[in-house]
Amino acid sequence: MFRRSRADRAFREAQRAGYALLQQVHAEWPLPDHTTGAVAPAASEALVPDFLPPDLRVPSRQEVEGLMMRWEQPLVIDGEVRTCTECGGYRDWIVFCLRDDSVWLRCRAGHQVQEPRLDAAWYNRNSGPVDRWHSTLEDGLRHLGH
Ligand SMILES: [Zn+2]
Repeated sequence: MFRRSRADRAFREAQRAGYALLQQVHAEWPLPDHTTGAVAPAASEALVPDFLPPDLRVPSRQEVEGLMMRWEQPLVIDGEVRTCTECGGYRDWIVFCLRDDSVWLRCRAGHQVQEPRLDAAWYNRNSGPVDRWHSTLEDGLRHLGH
């Protein structure tokens, strides 16, 4: 019984050592630039939860200021097309969902306003999986074409 579990532990330790070595190799030969924004697939996170380096770990909702997505088609809320009260724009929004679950809209011209009729649940239903992390708002806006 004890010998068995010791063997299992040795096997796991060998696996971990192999994985650590792999990480080291990656650090010495960094991946090309275009993959650095990608998030490690959830499967590998589940497999080795303690061993992903911080920059590969998926931040939790509490660790980011908010989420953002581009919304190119007209945005219909309660059966009405939402227009920007400042400039009348009605399409090509950036939609933000902030840490406090509030949803904000930013029109093409850069007018930003909170939209109380939308919330985090709406955002989650309508957004795709997060595939990129931005260190600044400007970087995110640039990436989304604004
Ligand atoms: Zn506007």
